[in-house]
Amino acid sequence: MRTVATCNHCRGEGEDRLWEGPLFRVVLVHDAGFPGWCRVIWNTHVAELSDLPP
Ligand SMILES: [Zn+2]
Repeated sequence: MRTVATCNHCRGEGEDRLWEGPLFRVVLVHDAGFPGWCRVIWNTHVAELSDLPP
């Protein structure tokens, strides 16, 4: 299981940050197969979408 220290998303190195707020940020994922793909990253480590509170 990944922890905050080993999680690439939590470290946020080299990401193309489009927006940032108090709870999460939105980054552009550079993938030729999926142009415009954005990832929403919670500011505290959340491994899976299902781990978020309702
Ligand atoms: Zn994380």
